[in-house]
Amino acid sequence: MLKMAVFNTKPYVERFFRRANERFGHELTFFEPRLSDETAEMARGADAVCIFVNDAADAPVLKRLAEGGVRLVALRCAGFNNVDIAAAERLGLSVVRVPAYSPYAVAEHTVGLILALNRRIHRAHQRVREGNFSLEGLMGFDLHGTPAGIIGTGKIGVIVAKILHGFGCELYAYDVQPNPDCVEMGVKYVSLDKMYETCYILSLHCPLVPETHHLIDAAAIDKMQDCVMLINTSRGALIDTQAVIDGLKSQRIGYLGLDVYEEEGDLFFDDLSDQIIQDDVFARLLMFPNVIVTGHQAFFTHNAVTAIAETTLDNLSVFEQGQCQNVLTCSLHHKSPDS
Ligand code: NAD
Repeated sequence: MLKMAVFNTKPYVERFFRRANERFGHELTFFEPRLSDETAEMARGADAVCIFVNDAADAPVLKRLAEGGVRLVALRCAGFNNVDIAAAERLGLSVVRVPAYSPYAVAEHTVGLILALNRRIHRAHQRVREGNFSLEGLMGFDLHGTPAGIIGTGKIGVIVAKILHGFGCELYAYDVQPNPDCVEMGVKYVSLDKMYETCYILSLHCPLVPETHHLIDAAAIDKMQDCVMLINTSRGALIDTQAVIDGLKSQRIGYLGLDVYEEEGDLFFDDLSDQIIQDDVFARLLMFPNVIVTGHQAFFTHNAVTAIAETTLDNLSVFEQGQCQNVLTCSLHHKSPDS
């Protein structure tokens, strides 16, 4: 049995982790605050910390954790751009993650955004509730035959491709490593420029790494089809938000669907409905009738959250046995084959 301090806890996190832990029997302590320089001390005496996408595991925080006896940072997500892996390695901390829980959850939410934006379901819903049955401004287009581009065809991107293939879209992709399943489906791998020039729908599924930071900037938007639909359910900083706002104002961008936002750390996952939003860029995004923003919920299905809890606790059990699985960095002597 290991002790794990779970940061950034919401009621559903505690519920799913407690249920999954009946099988693993670890000692879990749940903390509501995010992991930060101020809260790292709460983990003193724990063997591991469990964190999520917006917990800041930078070098000073990791140092505090290591000083308090923590040996493992267990991410309960796939992305790890919020963890200083090199610092963890220097400090002798191991870092593990949940590389896949339900790519279907994220892919299906992505397609949900595409459908809602195209057929303006968010606006239609409001209108009908107010007794306004006018169709003016609600016209969509057939997805069948529409050229759609997927940037990043890994676990999630390939499922988006499969679903859109089912709709009859003409599919294009860009990836540093083409996926054979996509090639077999008839997806055409092209350069980014070719994709911008060809596609009416663009969906982002690549990781946030230095090369993809602000991948969608003013220059990229300039090369896109007029009235393009842009969807981002990957990571906020893939998009230069100000450039996208300019693109919406000039109508180069016709539809925007976001589940992630560059500065989401100050907003998402909390009920701020009684507060004044101070982020003017985010507030501007919400003013457009052709923008839908969801608060990083693409992963949020029963299936995915169960898988997240089970994999995280299994990662902890494997660590207890002197090994690492699903590893980003492992500071143990005995490493498993995937380390
Ligand atoms: P994955 O690792 O399976 O796939 C990523 C793909 O991107 C790979 O095929 C890789 O070759 C490609 N890639 C890497 N660098 C690239 C580059 N410079 N340009 C183009 N492609 C590049 O990851 P995944 O499980 O499919 O997840 C994709 C993203 O979705 C992750 O980065 C994660 O941050 C995000 N995500 C979001 C949510 C959510 O709730 N919104 C949930 C899970 C994952």
